[in-house]
Amino acid sequence: MDTAGNIPDPLAPGTAPATPPKVIATVACDLEFAPLGTRSRLLDSLGGRPVLQRTLAALRAVPALGTIVLLAPAAQHAALRSVIMEVPDVEILPLNTRHAFVERRVRAGRAWNLCGWRGGAGQWTVFDEDYHPAAVGEACRHCAADHVLSVPAHGALLDPALLAALLHHHLYQNHEMRVTYTPAAPGLCGLALRADIVAEMAASGCMPGNLLGYEPAAPTVDTLIREACMQVDPALSKIPNRFLVDTQRSWQMVETLLARGPWDCPAALAAAARDLPLAQRLPQPREIQLELTPRRCTHPPGSVPAAVAAAVVPLDARPWQQWLGRHTFADDLLLTVGGDGDPLLYPDLLAVLRAARASGARHIHLQTDLLDGTAMLLQAMAEDLVDVLSVCFYGDDAPTYAAVGGYDGHAAVCANLEQVIKHSRQTLVVPRLLKVRQTIGQLEAFFDRWVSRTGWAVLDGPTDRAGAVPFGAVVDMAPPKRRACRRLAERLVLRADGRAVACDQDIHALLNLGPIADTTLEQMWLGAPLMQLRSAHAAGAWGTIDPCRHCREWHRP
Ligand code: SF4
Repeated sequence: MDTAGNIPDPLAPGTAPATPPKVIATVACDLEFAPLGTRSRLLDSLGGRPVLQRTLAALRAVPALGTIVLLAPAAQHAALRSVIMEVPDVEILPLNTRHAFVERRVRAGRAWNLCGWRGGAGQWTVFDEDYHPAAVGEACRHCAADHVLSVPAHGALLDPALLAALLHHHLYQNHEMRVTYTPAAPGLCGLALRADIVAEMAASGCMPGNLLGYEPAAPTVDTLIREACMQVDPALSKIPNRFLVDTQRSWQMVETLLARGPWDCPAALAAAARDLPLAQRLPQPREIQLELTPRRCTHPPGSVPAAVAAAVVPLDARPWQQWLGRHTFADDLLLTVGGDGDPLLYPDLLAVLRAARASGARHIHLQTDLLDGTAMLLQAMAEDLVDVLSVCFYGDDAPTYAAVGGYDGHAAVCANLEQVIKHSRQTLVVPRLLKVRQTIGQLEAFFDRWVSRTGWAVLDGPTDRAGAVPFGAVVDMAPPKRRACRRLAERLVLRADGRAVACDQDIHALLNLGPIADTTLEQMWLGAPLMQLRSAHAAGAWGTIDPCRHCREWHRP
């Protein structure tokens, strides 16, 4: 080790052999629940072998790695011992769980981008999903380790070569930070940390996302372009997929991949996964947008014209309850309650939210102007019916809000938001600001303020609803070369009058998938109208379809 604490790279020419540092792996194991709160599949057989055994076999194939420490609830230690019998050098230690607030925040935030190493609501990363600071700290101390490799227990496709390369980069090439990662798709690799930062994180409850995210008080360059990030083949980092078998959808995808294998390297696996879009592995979309009412107080750029909204006759709660009651949602399904109208202006919101939860909706996002209905929202939050709350702003001061939003509501939304934040222990609150010419100068201050205060903020651009309303965005972000619409593989929209449509750009319901009165979610998602639309897009025929031919949003997921 030199005076700066760097260890000479043993592979570099002329380097004298040195005692290798002691590296352990930690694997948080819970046989009841996966980190996302879904059912644990650690003992399920995947391709004839329990998931956990696959994960341990991959770790054991990493040469630099010493002890593997399983962190598990005490009551499960006996059951785990029967799984690890044949794996050498494995210890089981208690899983000192992290604070319930952090647990909840990580689950709520990560759910919105399961296929990327970071993203979603908040600054959480895939490494946060199963990082328990106190338990990892104790494992590191117990083993007198110099470094820790934290890996996900559901990583049945973890790649030993990638893990070995990560450790090498961490030990010998990352001289800037005490933590090292790769931006590979979730489930292919892990996170490496030096013992001293592991101890500091244990003492403070600090999470990996806190180290790797944006800190408004101390802005710096993204870790993606620092030594903390081991760059990988773009085939592994630019593939929106999840190789952790902790949801129904990712389990099916990995099961199919294994049946088609074996794969020589992770790049070959990732290439095969490109032909298996995750969203299409179940007969349900990844996301449903449920609009309960067309009513709203504001009229910002991109909103539906008043005459169009007035023509929509919203359903009352009963048909929604009946339709929701006929379904069991996939464990990764995202439900956004919002859209063109404000759900807090729908008097039976609570009844619909309760029915959605009862049908298995585990990730509920409510989007509102928060100008009215605060008492109903607080009740929904008290009943744990809202995981993420988006609050829309149309300016960061009263005059701009009124000018852009068409309604003098800035003081009201600010007051209501303060009230909501006081009760938001269970709910991740996300303020959003519309990015238009008038708000350009306010974006940075708004974003930094709310990231510091609530953990996350979003800047939205208005759309022209496939040419149906004037274009109000600052710039057109559509790529120059048009491709098939990405949304058709991910989500659908349920309008306030009970009609399903293919997307939120379609304000005149031209891409109609059927009414909820006699159409199930599976029929909407896999029925002829949407399948034909997908085929037409795949064939490049979007130019013949209304409203797709005028759309600028086809490139967004
Ligand atoms: S191209 Fe635009 S209008 Fe057509 S389905 Fe996609 S998002 Fe909707």
